[in-house]
Amino acid sequence: MADGAAALSVKTACPYCGVGCGVAAVFSHDGAQGRAVAVAGDQAHPANLGRLCSKGAALGATVGLEGRLLEPTIGGRAASWTEATALVARRFGETIAKHGPDSVAFYVSGQLLTEDRGLLCRQQADEGLHRLGQYRHQ
Ligand code: SF4
Repeated sequence: MADGAAALSVKTACPYCGVGCGVAAVFSHDGAQGRAVAVAGDQAHPANLGRLCSKGAALGATVGLEGRLLEPTIGGRAASWTEATALVARRFGETIAKHGPDSVAFYVSGQLLTEDRGLLCRQQADEGLHRLGQYRHQ
């Protein structure tokens, strides 16, 4: 690490599937090179004992805001969250009315919190939807 660089080590979990592998992440910042994140499997975590699959091993490359969509846009123009969520809800409603409840599905992470999953299931029940999938590493 270059002179003047700062580093922070954090133990966390991979968010990509329901296994929930332990991750040891090292955040470093160097004024000349910007921010970097190096990840490795957490040797002490009972789910993976230090190992990561290819998705988890690539976590460091996905951290950062560069190139990310940070606010809603509709047709290329900035929009409020209220406007954007209303549009999504309207389009879901139109799709369900035209093609039935099985035409809409949610594909989510196995790492959803219980409260998040509860809200999603409640929303699905309210809309008469049946399809909820999540990525599971086999
Ligand atoms: S199996 Fe792979 S994708 Fe799933 S939590 Fe572990 S590292 Fe992440």
